[in-house]
Amino acid sequence: MSRFLKEQYRSMEAYTPGEQPRDMQYIKLNTNESPYPPAPSVVEAMNAEQVELLRLYSDPTAKNLKEKLAGLYGVRPENVFVSNGSDEVLNFAFMAFGGQGAVFPDISYGFYEVFAELYAINAEKIPLESDFSVDYRKYCGKNQLVVIANPNAPTGMTIPVWQIEEIVKSNPDAVVVIDEAYVDFGGETCLPLVKKYDNLLVTRTFSKSRCLAGGRLGYAFASPEIIADLEKIKYSTNPYNINRLTLLLGEKTVDAEDYYQEKCRKIEETRAWTTAQLEELGITVLPSKANFIFMKTDKMDGGELYKTLKAKGILVRHFTNPRICQFNRVTIGTKKQMETFIDTLKEVIL
Ligand code: PMP
Repeated sequence: MSRFLKEQYRSMEAYTPGEQPRDMQYIKLNTNESPYPPAPSVVEAMNAEQVELLRLYSDPTAKNLKEKLAGLYGVRPENVFVSNGSDEVLNFAFMAFGGQGAVFPDISYGFYEVFAELYAINAEKIPLESDFSVDYRKYCGKNQLVVIANPNAPTGMTIPVWQIEEIVKSNPDAVVVIDEAYVDFGGETCLPLVKKYDNLLVTRTFSKSRCLAGGRLGYAFASPEIIADLEKIKYSTNPYNINRLTLLLGEKTVDAEDYYQEKCRKIEETRAWTTAQLEELGITVLPSKANFIFMKTDKMDGGELYKTLKAKGILVRHFTNPRICQFNRVTIGTKKQMETFIDTLKEVIL
């Protein structure tokens, strides 16, 4: 740390991304990426001509991509925001709407806490219930920025849309952010509520179900007024927030919806298979609607299991928070990868 850093940031703890090791070839089940490549039409869209066009700035209005997303999801382009990964729109949401404080679950996406600290927002972390579910009543009538991932991470568990509606309805003077990064793997979207409530912001990403984590592309839906606020923040920080290549690949991705739907169904099938295998081994698996599962075994300490699997070439995600340190989060890969995972796990714990 230099002596120049603002006082406010000196003790701030930055977000720790999942490891991206280069030391050996792992079966990588630690950061919820897709095991599948982007659709062929997306891959083919990338060529020398597009790279040459990088001498020009990207479209700061992202007009084409917004129109395509609006078409696919049945909203108006004014209801759509696009961002450099969904991390960016979450960042902007905390910056723009955190004035009265923020509330989110104690076990959820770790970045919420970091954003709250970054903007000196008073944050209340509401403990999940003992079964890791969200009690929606605890988020009602707060009138502070509410942020809930649905499905939640790292649990994979969902909260029903009618409960989200209760939260949105009972916080009319604050923005409610529903982070739907993992909604495409069998979850239920609350997007229809955007037409009914002017205080709901739904965030999404191309990183998981759209096989584009390295492209860094996120999007969000909300009332035109909330979108205009987010645009204001964007134009005050980084107007060309999404590079030309990613914008193009995003548009092609929206056009290839059938390909991605098929891949999502495949991941759901593999998730069901993996869960059944684990349960047969007596392992606890939380009910997941995401492209990962959260599991623990009483045969081995969570941290130990993470280390042992890593030494055998399988990377999963372990969190040190005492409430979940016996668990590991395992991304659903291809069927073959999950077979190797199960075989290795058997070697380790049986
Ligand atoms: N929300 C949740 C719940 C996540 O797990 C992630 C992935 N780390 C994100 C948002 C952000 O993903 P991205 O910035 O790649 O869109």
